[in-house]
Amino acid sequence: MKACVLHAKHDLRYEDIAEPQLSDPQEVKVKILAGGICGSDQHYYLDGGIGSAIVVREPIVIGHEGCGIVEEVGSAVDGIKPGDMVILRPARPCFNCYYCEHHMYSYCEHMRHLGSASTFPHVQGLFAEKVVVHQVQCRVVHDMKPEVAAFAEPLGVAFNGVHSLGDIMGKNVAVMGAGPIGILSAAAAKTLGADRVTVFDIRDNPLSIAQELGADEVINSKTNPDAIKEFSAHRGQFDCALEATGNGFAAMQTMAIVRPEGTIAQVGMFGTGHQPTDLAAFSGKGLRWHAVFRFYTEFGPAVNALERGLINPLPLLSASFPASECVKAMEAAVSPETCKVQVHF
Ligand SMILES: [Zn+2]
Ligand SMILES: [Zn+2]
Repeated sequence: MKACVLHAKHDLRYEDIAEPQLSDPQEVKVKILAGGICGSDQHYYLDGGIGSAIVVREPIVIGHEGCGIVEEVGSAVDGIKPGDMVILRPARPCFNCYYCEHHMYSYCEHMRHLGSASTFPHVQGLFAEKVVVHQVQCRVVHDMKPEVAAFAEPLGVAFNGVHSLGDIMGKNVAVMGAGPIGILSAAAAKTLGADRVTVFDIRDNPLSIAQELGADEVINSKTNPDAIKEFSAHRGQFDCALEATGNGFAAMQTMAIVRPEGTIAQVGMFGTGHQPTDLAAFSGKGLRWHAVFRFYTEFGPAVNALERGLINPLPLLSASFPASECVKAMEAAVSPETCKVQVHF
């Protein structure tokens, strides 16, 4: 069968690999329909890893955002049958370690996360014709377009970000960065009860998509450089914020516009050399800074929101390519002109 295999940076191939087989009675074999290219996939392609900690050391099937049709189930699988459409949760925790016992599944010491080079041997991803996953990684859905279903994973991250802000009912929320996660965070904040959501970016096109997904106000902080200063008046104008750029400068701006004792959900991951250099506002305003790493329990609510049409992610989809054109798809994904790019099988 075919898969999209990254051998080294800038060396992505659509090639034959062995078809995976069920090796546990709780496993499910899924024929993949569609998958989204995530920022981490792009880092693997462009840099051969993420920072110094995660390095691609052997060929890896990329991809962790996707859905498919069940082809085969193990003897102990319950409630999932061949023919069902499933959305895949990329995380497969061990359910046995200290963190799993404390329901902190994202920090499982033996985590197997689809398409991740953070462990060695790497866990192969889902940009393949077929994958084998544990039944807890499958959520059956009905009548959902594959291109919508493939947004469940990034929406799960967005839900985790909003979740980490605590009660946002009636709050005035800022979102820094209108990449896919930023836009979905804005939509999630509105869906979960924020009064007003303002999205900042330096590009007009994604800001208009943010508006389509429910942002009350969008600010281009490049063409409107005074905006941050205005929102910083009186020690800040926002109750809380989601920082979805992973850029140190934007993170410092976020600290400036949030009121004292407000919470910032750090959804963007800082690359090496991109950390904020000045934390005076952080300490001087008693801010709470909450890092957001992946998600686990938010998977169900994220799928529900898509299934019920509470959030329509399709305006984020810039392009979709057949998996055989995965290099083209990746080149499109890394372009600053696109939002989310998917591949389909
Ligand atoms: Zn992702
Ligand atoms: Zn564990």
